[in-house]
Amino acid sequence: MKARLLLWMIATRNSFVALLPLTFLRVIAELILNFPWLYYQQSMDHWLGADWREPLRQIIDNSFTLFGLLLAAIVSAQLVFRMPSLTKHREIAPPLMVAISAVINFLIITVSLPNISPVEFSAEVILIGIVVGLLSAELMLWAARKPYLDLLNLPVDTDTTFYQAMRLSPSIILSGMIFFTTALILAATPDFPNFTQLIIDWAQNNEYGTWILGSFVALMNQLFWFVGLHGSIFIYGAADGALFLANLDAGFNASSLAFRVLFNNFVLLGGSGATLGLLIAIFIVTQRGVQNKIAKISIVPSLFNINDILIYGLPIVFNPFYLIPFVLIPILLMLITLFTLQFGFITIFDSNIVSWTTPPLLSGWLLTESWRGVFLQVMFITLSTVCYLPFVRKAEKHRQQQSLDAFKQASDKIIKVGNGKQKIITRQDKVGMIARDLAVDMQNAIKQNSLTLVYQPKHDRQGQIVGVEALLRWTHPRYGFISPIVLIAVAEDSELIHHLGRWVIKQTCACKARWNAAGYKALTVAVNISPLQLTDKDLPFYITKYIKDYGISAEELELEITESSEIPDTSLTDLILKQLVETGVHLAMDDFGMGYSSLLYMRRFQVNAIKIDGSITRDVLINDTNADIVRTICSLGKAQRVHVVAEYVETKEQREVLSEMGCDIFQGYYHSPPIAESDCLNYFQLHNGLVQGKLSI
Ligand code: C2E
Ligand code: MG
Ligand code: MG
Repeated sequence: MKARLLLWMIATRNSFVALLPLTFLRVIAELILNFPWLYYQQSMDHWLGADWREPLRQIIDNSFTLFGLLLAAIVSAQLVFRMPSLTKHREIAPPLMVAISAVINFLIITVSLPNISPVEFSAEVILIGIVVGLLSAELMLWAARKPYLDLLNLPVDTDTTFYQAMRLSPSIILSGMIFFTTALILAATPDFPNFTQLIIDWAQNNEYGTWILGSFVALMNQLFWFVGLHGSIFIYGAADGALFLANLDAGFNASSLAFRVLFNNFVLLGGSGATLGLLIAIFIVTQRGVQNKIAKISIVPSLFNINDILIYGLPIVFNPFYLIPFVLIPILLMLITLFTLQFGFITIFDSNIVSWTTPPLLSGWLLTESWRGVFLQVMFITLSTVCYLPFVRKAEKHRQQQSLDAFKQASDKIIKVGNGKQKIITRQDKVGMIARDLAVDMQNAIKQNSLTLVYQPKHDRQGQIVGVEALLRWTHPRYGFISPIVLIAVAEDSELIHHLGRWVIKQTCACKARWNAAGYKALTVAVNISPLQLTDKDLPFYITKYIKDYGISAEELELEITESSEIPDTSLTDLILKQLVETGVHLAMDDFGMGYSSLLYMRRFQVNAIKIDGSITRDVLINDTNADIVRTICSLGKAQRVHVVAEYVETKEQREVLSEMGCDIFQGYYHSPPIAESDCLNYFQLHNGLVQGKLSI
């Protein structure tokens, strides 16, 4: 039951978020309509005639109705979609059909319930939208599991939409009838006792009535907003009983309007929840990320006390991180406002001139005709910022952790799945989303040169250094270190690989030129080449160009062709491989023994070295089969007169055994992990790189 409630909440919150475009539209309409500048309002009247407000009001009102209707549809679809335990039932209750049922039920309810009052309209349609959405989904899920409701019992049809529509129609009609009956019963039942009125009556007869009612209004307003409903109905309702303010020595007309003005301009600074403070707190805690972006978008509306973007976008709705401050801060501000009013710190003069969209500080000045009003508002904004800060920090930490977890899962999946037939980047799930996000960021990183290369030394049998392998490194601003395997998989999918590959070769050549200048010409540098790069007909051209540009010799550069995916068997690839050999660079077959068809490649192109895959060399000491594989590859290497390189050499014993088996070059943590360019010269010096000559086999 608890899990179901949570799902209801998540479905509702996500639906509010999905409806952000509609919220944006309404916020813009509200701003145009209520822009608190008399000259603007007069000019608009002058230029457009007095009726210019009407279409905007229509947009605002209708956007609420539409919001309710769409909520019903999206909440129901989201709920069905998100029920993990019911995945198999999703087939029999497809989200589209469930959403249609919800829309029909929404229509039935709104038409059959008697007069929805205009003031309470917004809150009611939204509430109806949520309730109808949730109940419709539950009803459909229940009905879809009852075979006897499949009255038509059609054979499965190839037109799945037609089939589903026909099959589910009886259930949809049944659900509609249940809603219709409920509406009739609701309409016939006498009104529930007016809870708000009871509180007002009680407060008015109480010595502390002012404080009780003030806190109650703030509390209800916030709680309603927290579940996505416009809480203002409570201010309006309670404001009718706001005569209680008469007993304040406030010197202003204690009308319900005055109460509303006080509440709007001293409590709801930036909108419900005193969210101007939340906005500032978000800017203090975050410099980028989702919270920061949403906060930026809502700066302008918030200055006019419209905060729907924060409420539905951040979101605050059903967000446990913000419940406490969102409810308590307005109550606190309300109490302080009443206090300052009672003790005459501020006096409200003309409450008619200030609309609810008047920016804070200006409204304080206009209402009190004194700096005291402004001072009080500054104090309130500061106080709410300070109160929101710890909660924003916690929410941000949680969000970052969630984003890291999602990234880790995606990254593990990409490494596990590898580059199979299906592209990662086109997947519709979170993995696909993160991959697309990474592709965009990677493109920028290449442009900004924020990727780096590290170099892992390779040693010969005598322990002398013979070369290095360039390995890609990227510290992502949000996700931190990302495995190059993930990077390459994403780059291959997004076709960034060609761009990235050229960048790696260029940087490596530039680096080699610097080492040559320091006297290490005999060392080779290896770069990894993805099979997909072998379809880039410009690759040989660029390699020749970089070699020439940086003045290095072709034999100093080695291309390690990884078998991360199958090497395309096309005449273009063969031509490119031939051209690469002609440039004079050396070719190595990487991860030999684990790929699709390592041996076949030996026939297709001429290599200078084979690198035995790390998974084979890693446990050569304990696994006899692996030892046999290494011996076989070494004799193949000897017969073909190519170097055999052992990767993942982590211990002395492993190195000795691999050497006895016939490997000539060793790379791995036993010698050194990959190191930054700045540490390389030191390393070369320590390991006699300078005097190293060519290897002979
Ligand atoms: P690889 O080419 O087989 O590179 C060797 C990998 O093994 C590197 O991982 C290296 O850090 C790691 N390694 C080396 N010695 C040891 C050891 O003793 N123990 C262990 N546990 N690991 C060791 P890295 O840097 O994470 O790279 C992974 C793969 O990503 C590379 O495998 C290569 O296929 C690919 N890659 C890296 N940089 C590039 C690049 O610039 N272009 C392309 N196309 N692929 C790249
Ligand atoms: Mg490699
Ligand atoms: Mg390898």
